Amino acid sequence: MRLVLHGQPASRGLALGRAHVREPQMHEVREERIPEGAVEAEIERLHAALDTARAELQQMRERLQGALAHELGEFLDIHQLILDDPELVLGLDDLIRTARYSADYALKLQRDRLVAVFDAIDDPYMRSRREDLEHVIGRVWAALHRSPASETPGVSGEVLVTDNVAPAELSQLTERGVVAIITGAGSALSHSAILARSLHLPLIVGAHEAVAQINDGDALLVDGHSGEVIIEPDAEDLRRFKRMQRENARDRCALQKLRDAETVTRDGVEIRLLANAESREDVHQAYALGASGIGLYRTEFLFMQGRGAPDEDAQFLVYRDLVMGMRGRPVTLRTLDLGADKADRAGIALSHEPNPALGLRGVRLSLAQPGLFRSQLRALLRASAYGKVNILVPMVGFREEVRAVRALLDQCARELEAEGHAVAKKVALGVMIEVPAAALALSSFGREVDFLSIGTNDLVQYLLAIDRGNDAVAAHSSPLHPAVLRVLREILQFGQRRGLSTSVCGEMAGDPTHTRLLLALGLTEFSLHPNTLLEVRAIVRDSHLAELRKLGSRLLRASDRAGIERLLKATV
Ligand code: PEP
Ligand code: MG
Repeated sequence: MRLVLHGQPASRGLALGRAHVREPQMHEVREERIPEGAVEAEIERLHAALDTARAELQQMRERLQGALAHELGEFLDIHQLILDDPELVLGLDDLIRTARYSADYALKLQRDRLVAVFDAIDDPYMRSRREDLEHVIGRVWAALHRSPASETPGVSGEVLVTDNVAPAELSQLTERGVVAIITGAGSALSHSAILARSLHLPLIVGAHEAVAQINDGDALLVDGHSGEVIIEPDAEDLRRFKRMQRENARDRCALQKLRDAETVTRDGVEIRLLANAESREDVHQAYALGASGIGLYRTEFLFMQGRGAPDEDAQFLVYRDLVMGMRGRPVTLRTLDLGADKADRAGIALSHEPNPALGLRGVRLSLAQPGLFRSQLRALLRASAYGKVNILVPMVGFREEVRAVRALLDQCARELEAEGHAVAKKVALGVMIEVPAAALALSSFGREVDFLSIGTNDLVQYLLAIDRGNDAVAAHSSPLHPAVLRVLREILQFGQRRGLSTSVCGEMAGDPTHTRLLLALGLTEFSLHPNTLLEVRAIVRDSHLAELRKLGSRLLRASDRAGIERLLKATV
């Protein structure tokens, strides 16, 4: 019977496929005791499953290539560490040996115990570790229950319906031909969502009813644009789906023609489209699509590959190649943006913090670890001899922070020159505006910096007091709030008055549904993932800037999201 469910769109695209429901089976395992004589064989069965899970992770690691290798590799490493954790493995052996539980029930008990420990800690980092634990235990459980030749979930033409999906699974699922994923939990700002977008795999998250309402084998129509899932679509749905698919294909084709086009509005104003990049492939794509430069390179990904913090030379080589890859177009590299939630993955020991988003994060961490920071600044300065480098500092809230960074940067440049290294004469220093205090006290930074970049992901999180990774409040996390629009307008006007280049580099800049809004507020520099660059270019080319600017003040008077959306609809 036809039924419509809704979730949050996390990765766009349309798909029609057969449901493959992955039940959270661990919860249903019943207590089971085994005879004493079967204990050793049961332990062997468990260890064979652990070995299978290890081998699967290893195989996935070896198959990873290109851009994804560095992002996904990090998750696979964490999963390997959990699998080898003596607390988990010895605990399982012990439950089988002393209590004579079956391997399945021992696994369930261990899972419940560890999940309860994670749940008791009020810390977003620990919450994400809990998900990793669930994925690892699920993998071992699956290995316990399948013949060696059987398959991981998902085959060609299937839509995976599950509670949650691990970033590390995504490339494997895409390779197998899975056409879309629907999850009951999850957030559109999660790493899985960012990767699904990179892979062009439609993903809907937070569809709470999905696992309960969808049955294996149901035909599903998935609309990753609206977040709608139609179970057993009718003839009219299928006709609409075909029509939308044809339109999408036409649009994609038309977009490819814009690869070499200028990004100019109908009334002749040039808009700069810079790229957000995290890998060499992103840089290559950005260059090929005619991005004006790199507007945000998140250097922390370099630090989070499980091999500890890279030293100055290792960093220099990566930054230098990146700069040369853009062949003279400007490259903005952001200094380390890590906090207590991620620093240990980079081999940086920090004490546990109850609330890392408000803790020793970004520039605060860099200034607290001057040795680490100096090696990064020196590597960035050395790369500046190979092209146009700008340095961007995250999480700035105080003028003293900028002054301290500037002093350290000048000192590093002097030292490098004395050592005989080439360093560019001028390396622009900019700050991310993502802490509300910085947005409200811009004049304290105006004289200290060369450019501004607005990080709307964090700015929205801190302005609205909404954790950007928390599924429970994700529906409220939108930049379409009167407070956000006013703050954005203030920052853009400040940049204009002071002649400071000001871009937006949060996800908002790459969301084509927000392009006209940002133009109306006065933005002329977008920094966005290359995947949506052509779409945004097409919208810019179809926009009349002077007309949109007239809308700016009306948008600022709107008192809620619905009002803002009504005004924006009228512009299309
Ligand atoms: C932001 O906060 O908008 C941003 C671009 O930085 P990140 O998403 O890396 O925190
Ligand atoms: Mg940020």
